Amino acid sequence: MNLISKTRMFMPGPTPYLPEAMVQALVTPMHHRKEDFKELFRQVQAGLQQVFKTSNEVLILACSGSGGMEAAMVNTMAPGEKALLAVAGKFGERWIELADTYGIDKVVIQVPYGDSVEPAQIDAALDAHPDISAIFLQATETSTGAMMDLEGIAAQVRRRGDPVLVTDAITGLGTTPINTDEWGIDIVIGGSQKAFMLPPGVAMLSISERAWRRIEKCGRPRYYLDLRRERKAQAQGQSAYTPAVSIIQGLKSALDLILKMGVDGLVANAGLQAGATRAAILRWGMQIFPRVSGNAVTAFVPPAGVDPSKVMKMMRDRFGVLISGGQGSMKGKILRIGHLGYFDFLETLGMIGCLEIALTEAGASLETGSGCRAALEYYREFGKNR
Ligand SMILES: *Cc1c(COP(=O)(O)O)cnc(C)c1O
Repeated sequence: MNLISKTRMFMPGPTPYLPEAMVQALVTPMHHRKEDFKELFRQVQAGLQQVFKTSNEVLILACSGSGGMEAAMVNTMAPGEKALLAVAGKFGERWIELADTYGIDKVVIQVPYGDSVEPAQIDAALDAHPDISAIFLQATETSTGAMMDLEGIAAQVRRRGDPVLVTDAITGLGTTPINTDEWGIDIVIGGSQKAFMLPPGVAMLSISERAWRRIEKCGRPRYYLDLRRERKAQAQGQSAYTPAVSIIQGLKSALDLILKMGVDGLVANAGLQAGATRAAILRWGMQIFPRVSGNAVTAFVPPAGVDPSKVMKMMRDRFGVLISGGQGSMKGKILRIGHLGYFDFLETLGMIGCLEIALTEAGASLETGSGCRAALEYYREFGKNR
């Protein structure tokens, strides 16, 4: 039993918010066409460039992450042009739905849930279809926890020169290294409710000159998500339409925190939470779901006979901890725990202890404290290596 129980979000988005920063941002009135907001907007743009590791402009849009995905696709692809879609789960499938909606000719590489799309597959598809003008993929596929070899894939694309590489890094940013300029990624998409530790409502896109050339000549009508219009406005510290003012104010505080520890520090923090959680799961003899995991989310398979929904319910009702189940065809088969954003080791350790109890009561046979012990051992090793 628990007399006091606080709610803690351990889902892969929305993530726990930055409390101090958010409260301050939400109560600070600001007009989005006045000088002080323009100044803040410029600081946010510059901070985002550091997080994205790019000298390209980063546009800030008032929409969820999927709006950023849609903006990337409708601005770069005219009807009938050919796109390569790398699909490793539910968010990858969103690229297919978008392409079908907008009449884009598609070549699809679809791997089973839990697998990653490999650079060699991209290479073969680009060889077979020299008329592909853009490639769309996820850096990390949140529905399965899988991470792609983005550097390897980018190298295959850049060998060809021309095609535009679009990466949904909505859960990749801040959890895995993303070297936008060094690797030559043309469009990188982020979202406020993931590693930026804010409420949902803002998508960010970094866009290379190669991508801008496609966007400028793309013969498709666009309105709200017209990136040409946004580029013009945002060069003046404004957005084309009313921006999500309070979230952009929150973003400034989030960026202050992130840049103080460094983007690599944020990635390492997610790595610590993910590593400790996986050490516990492996100690319990359970299987990590994806072949290659990113740090954004740990997806694992509970033992046979243990109902994931029962574990989730017990975590929520007894401990106030919200974790996620599987999506799409993985519903009822896996559990997912988020590590991106505003987490520290103490919370992770507590979550592991509670998870051990919930799994045990749902039928798993686990030695009391074994998960926390594995996590503590991981923590000690992690400290030595830093
Ligand atoms: C969360 C997420 C999105 C965007 O989802 P929204 O609900 O539209 O913000 C896109 N791709 C991935 C990989 C995500 O994790």
